[in-house]
Amino acid sequence: MSRESIVALDKRRIWHPYTAMDDYRARVDPIVVDRASGPYLYDLDGRSYIDANSSWWVSSLGHNHPRLVEVLKRQAERNCHSALAGMTHEVAALLGEALCSVAPAGLERVFFSDDGSTAVEVALKASLQYWSQNGRPSRKRFVSLEDAFHGETLGATAIGGVELFRRPFAGAIPEHVRVPSPTRAGGLEPAVEILSAVLRQQGETLAAMVLEPVVQGAAGMQIYDPAYLRAARELCDEHEVLLIADEVFTGYGRTGPMWACEHAGVAPDLLCTAKGFTGGILPMAATLVSERIFEGFLGSADRAFHYGHSFCGNPLGAAVALEVLRIYREERIIEAAAPRAARIAAAFEALAELPSVARSRSLGMIGAVDLCGDSGYLARAGWRVYEEARRRGAYLRPMGNVVYVAPPLNIPEDTLGRLLEIVRESIESLTAHPG
Ligand SMILES: *Cc1c(COP(=O)(O)O)cnc(C)c1O
Repeated sequence: MSRESIVALDKRRIWHPYTAMDDYRARVDPIVVDRASGPYLYDLDGRSYIDANSSWWVSSLGHNHPRLVEVLKRQAERNCHSALAGMTHEVAALLGEALCSVAPAGLERVFFSDDGSTAVEVALKASLQYWSQNGRPSRKRFVSLEDAFHGETLGATAIGGVELFRRPFAGAIPEHVRVPSPTRAGGLEPAVEILSAVLRQQGETLAAMVLEPVVQGAAGMQIYDPAYLRAARELCDEHEVLLIADEVFTGYGRTGPMWACEHAGVAPDLLCTAKGFTGGILPMAATLVSERIFEGFLGSADRAFHYGHSFCGNPLGAAVALEVLRIYREERIIEAAAPRAARIAAAFEALAELPSVARSRSLGMIGAVDLCGDSGYLARAGWRVYEEARRRGAYLRPMGNVVYVAPPLNIPEDTLGRLLEIVRESIESLTAHPG
């Protein structure tokens, strides 16, 4: 098909995610991806783009990693899907073992689902049911952070803190408790004090605290002091509130260590993983839980976790996710990312001096700047940078006025260098042609 006919068909039928569709139809000339390889997307005209956000944070090993494609083909010939209800298969069993062996201490059991949102949904429902059948039925609510993002299902939306994403559902989703992160509260101490007061006053009604450890991704790469995590762990213990770490974005070395919880030396009671876990190949996710939570579902059949998506433990996804962990180990992905992370840190620190940059930050394989001017998810300056970057060969989708990179952890050094140049040139062009 020609590029034009694909775009025409798309514009007639497709409703795009997080996209103002009238603007898209009238003005957007989309990149039409033909194939993808390593850090690159190639469009139908043969132009290449460095994928600065690993396609919404999933392709942490780059696109179409040859080992993952090979494993996918082999598994497809053997078994594309069989249910996990009372049956099992080799790759699910091996993946459960491999995942627990790299997980924070105490996470011993794995529940598979489809994506980040369902991984969070599993954690929410498991926490609620745990308390309901283990003597504390009053624990029915969650505490989460302002600006939090935990996914798209109604349950995950209810604990989310991005106002724009919640507003249409106000009144239709349960009200939970939100507390400010250290960034929002004006520092670590006030944030911990607020959390402490909330847990003291409402602890008996709370099933769990949910948070994105250290980096709130969808809030615009907001990085907070890991000491807050340690304090949250202690306070949750004190008030018998479970701690759910949503590592859907931060896991798999995105922030440096395998898990962002490691910045604080903290282990949660439940941990959600997806995105990097999938190798960017197939929808797949896992929720890890402690032995104590798992045991809370033992006994008579009505105490079982009556939950499970059709594709729970999908063999294709599991085979790929298992190979992802092998690649991490054998290619020392996390250790090898350290010099790249240092380059991102240096480049973003230098961006802070540009007149159109209000604030800059970085952690691990994440670098972000806030552009000056209007803020919020619907701000436009980020899109002007996007257009500039696209002309220079990078896909640099912004979040409002936040321009960021979260490239594959194994992006070749020279490609990373070029990407960082493109980011700089594209932001500089804002002042060259103020619009
Ligand atoms: C992306 C994300 C989710 C949702 O994952 P999906 O795969 O998009 O459903 C949940 N939590 C965090 C922290 C995320 O970044």
